[in-house]
Amino acid sequence: MTGRRVAVLGAGIMGSSAAISLARRGFDVTLVDREAAPMAATSRWNEGKIHLGYLYGADPALATARHLLTGGLLFEERARELTGDDLDGHTTTDDDVYLVHRNSVVAPDALRATFDGVSELIRQHPDAGRYLVDLSDARTTELTPAELSAVAGEEIVAGFRVPERSVDTGWFADRLAGAVAAETGVTLQLGSTVVAVEPHGPADGRWRVSTDNGLDEDFDVVVNALWNGRLPIDVSAGLTPEPPWTHRYRLCVFARTRTSCDLPSAIVTVGPFGDVKNYNGRDFYLSWYPVGLAAEGAELELEAPARPEGPEADAFVDRVRVALEHVMPGVGRVFDDAEALTVHGGFVFARGTGALDDRRSGLHRRDRYGVQRRGTYYSVDTGKYSTAPWLAQVLATEIAG
Ligand SMILES: Cc1cc2nc3c(=O)[nH]c(=O)nc-3n(C[C@H](O)[C@H](O)[C@H](O)COP(=O)(O)OP(=O)(O)OC[C@H]3O[C@@H](n4cnc5c(N)ncnc54)[C@H](O)[C@@H]3O)c2cc1C
Repeated sequence: MTGRRVAVLGAGIMGSSAAISLARRGFDVTLVDREAAPMAATSRWNEGKIHLGYLYGADPALATARHLLTGGLLFEERARELTGDDLDGHTTTDDDVYLVHRNSVVAPDALRATFDGVSELIRQHPDAGRYLVDLSDARTTELTPAELSAVAGEEIVAGFRVPERSVDTGWFADRLAGAVAAETGVTLQLGSTVVAVEPHGPADGRWRVSTDNGLDEDFDVVVNALWNGRLPIDVSAGLTPEPPWTHRYRLCVFARTRTSCDLPSAIVTVGPFGDVKNYNGRDFYLSWYPVGLAAEGAELELEAPARPEGPEADAFVDRVRVALEHVMPGVGRVFDDAEALTVHGGFVFARGTGALDDRRSGLHRRDRYGVQRRGTYYSVDTGKYSTAPWLAQVLATEIAG
């Protein structure tokens, strides 16, 4: 099997992890992306939560938590294997705080029960000791009224502390991009937009990959990890996507402060709200969902909206600030002390439809992503950043047979 040619399409966290994992199993890998560098798109510009399942509080059956858990628990180990770097110093160190909004689609009591269920799942998991912190005794604790009023505005009716951590995605993007560029066995084909993948030659499972700048080469195996660009290529390869699905493009603010700012990482839940992530006291992720939702649709591929710049970016930052200050009054310090504020974002693909303020929306579950296959063509719905390094390893092992 060694020496077989694999085209990995898309150099985000999924494609880059898969390319390295396959090259280390002896495959001759070509990694294709339209960007000028690996890890330049959604995988660089997201929140980096290494999910344990708490975010999906509107899925009381815990199907999402079960789907997310193994990959999240093993994220650090897989990330270290891929890059050779330790994540110490580049992840949040305190528990996340979930703040329950008065318009939450799940009431605090129901959320408490779901959170306890997630904690129980974690404690029973054989890999509970392998997360970024030891979770063998994972618990959720409710904030006291005094603790709540110290961080939250009047619209917040309850708060829970959960042992989730997040990674600084910009830092990790640089590490993984460096690792994939240094991997002998991976050839980077950047600045190339994939336009089709079609069966080619006799029915022995070979595929012709075509790009806008004339790559047109044959491969034994194709891994489609194009995320927002995945479905049209699946169609060209003869895989029909199964509805329903929704593409979204979300803009957020990435801030760096001049001085250290002691603010908890907090998520306003459950519904179309927002969050604040404090990676290390100076690097922050700030989002307010209704302000940042720049495009949404159910077509095969959603076009990226223009990223705001200059005065438009300033106005966007102001809107995020105003919304966040309602729910976390202390957040203004981050904006006041910022030496850099970057507006950026990325795509979310989800196998569901509806709006987050609707309790019944399919977007409140994320338990149906993974790999679809036609012969030696593999289409990967990454689903979550946090499970990608683990899923890539599972996939590489399967392809290696
Ligand atoms: C605002 C936001 C916050 C998020 N927060 C979290 C979080 O906290 N935790 C979590 O687990 N997940 C989170 N996610 C989801 C997570 O970011 C994605 O699931 C993950 O990054 C997808 O990785 P990927 O490698 O599949 O996609 P990408 O990183 O987008 O990689 C796909 C690559 O394919 C390339 N491409 C696309 N089409 C083509 C084409 N036709 N030809 C050539 N190249 C092409 C793109 O340039 C890109 O480099 C968030 C997403 C957003 C937008």
